Amino acid sequence: MAQSPELPEQPASPAWHPSTAIVHHPYQPPAGFEAVQPAVHKASTIFFPSMAAVRQRDWAFKSTYTYGLHGTPTSFTLEERLASLEGARYCLLAPSGLAAVSLVNLALLRQGDQVLLPDNVYGPNKELARQCLAEYGIDWACYDPLDAQDLQRKLTPRTRLVWLEAAGSVTMEFPDLLGLLQVCRAHGVTTALDNTWGAGLAFAPFALPGADGSTLGVDISVHALTKYPNGGGDVLMGSICTRDAQLLQTLKRRHMHLGLGVGMNDVESVLRGLPSMALRYAAQDRAARQLAQFLAQHPAVARVLHPALPSSPGHAHWRQICAPDAPPAPASDGQRAAAPIASEGAAAGIFSFEPAAHWSSQQIDAFCEALQLFRIGYSWGGPISLVMAYDLRNDRELSSSHARLASQRVIRLCIGLEHPDDLQADLAQALAACG
Ligand SMILES: *Cc1c(COP(=O)(O)O)cnc(C)c1O
Repeated sequence: MAQSPELPEQPASPAWHPSTAIVHHPYQPPAGFEAVQPAVHKASTIFFPSMAAVRQRDWAFKSTYTYGLHGTPTSFTLEERLASLEGARYCLLAPSGLAAVSLVNLALLRQGDQVLLPDNVYGPNKELARQCLAEYGIDWACYDPLDAQDLQRKLTPRTRLVWLEAAGSVTMEFPDLLGLLQVCRAHGVTTALDNTWGAGLAFAPFALPGADGSTLGVDISVHALTKYPNGGGDVLMGSICTRDAQLLQTLKRRHMHLGLGVGMNDVESVLRGLPSMALRYAAQDRAARQLAQFLAQHPAVARVLHPALPSSPGHAHWRQICAPDAPPAPASDGQRAAAPIASEGAAAGIFSFEPAAHWSSQQIDAFCEALQLFRIGYSWGGPISLVMAYDLRNDRELSSSHARLASQRVIRLCIGLEHPDDLQADLAQALAACG
């Protein structure tokens, strides 16, 4: 008979009651377990080995653990991976992309300060400025993301923060990122990029190639992990990355004041999604370009808004940042996409189109509802393709933004993981029925 393995010692004190013994059970699993995915460590309380350790705790950097709200090995792991993905040094997690945006605003802005937003900024960021920051005595204004001179004109001595977004929400204009960063650098103003679209894959936000061979970078990059990093359409989370230890301290302090914790099972989901993100991003990008090209040639479509299309506003800026080695863009005749969509570079799986002038509002609704694979819904980066219709008449502050749109009515498509030919057939049947 084989010798039975030695059982580990179980010296629970016989003096304890069973309810204490079950809580203070001494068993430790053997060390040395390694597997593909990291363990899920969940905690509110974290034990300190001594009172001296309590006094030496370090909440801002990852040298010790302090309390579940400030992280466990699981969230530290995700933060480190996101910091490397974006080319940053430090990362903080927030319970949603919008919470990450809010944290940046609430950490950096004081009464009397001003924040500048691109006119095509993620809608809830503008709402936050309009409804919450204004109540705190913080001014805000919008600038045209395609015009660095406009940003220059709107800077005041009170401007403390400039938001950037590439590409912009819904209308997809790709900003003059280098020009805007140059203006901010010259004035010493802190920049925060909403990098959800680029996802750390389309361009390196902290090391962009400046015109004179120098590098230009943002100060802060915010990312809705809800989208590509998680990829399942089932988790809300956001991140804030920076290279600057001082900024990290400022952000981390406010992060603690606001109590922005994340659930470790959600962190586990994002860690599970990360390894396949680049493949999903590339596949959704490819599919989106096929569908953008298809729609650009459809008579019921006035214009497709996709940064890789020469007719899309800011296309040259997209090329500069996201496809620097691509040959020059072929000439385009403005509104119509005569020139083919670029096949190089990176462009995410989300784009919009303007329906032809004859579409009524009822037709737009009917088109969204006639789609069978595309579901009506917000968000993006998940497995199921989504459609949403927008009326931008009250959404844009600047006349230059309105002037770029024919009718102010835009339909946005977010491409999932279905086969692009099936998605194209779905668009074709819905256009035939309603366009
Ligand atoms: C979705 C999104 C956000 C917000 O992310 P949530 O996790 O949904 O709060 C912020 N910015 C952009 C550009 C987004 O698309």
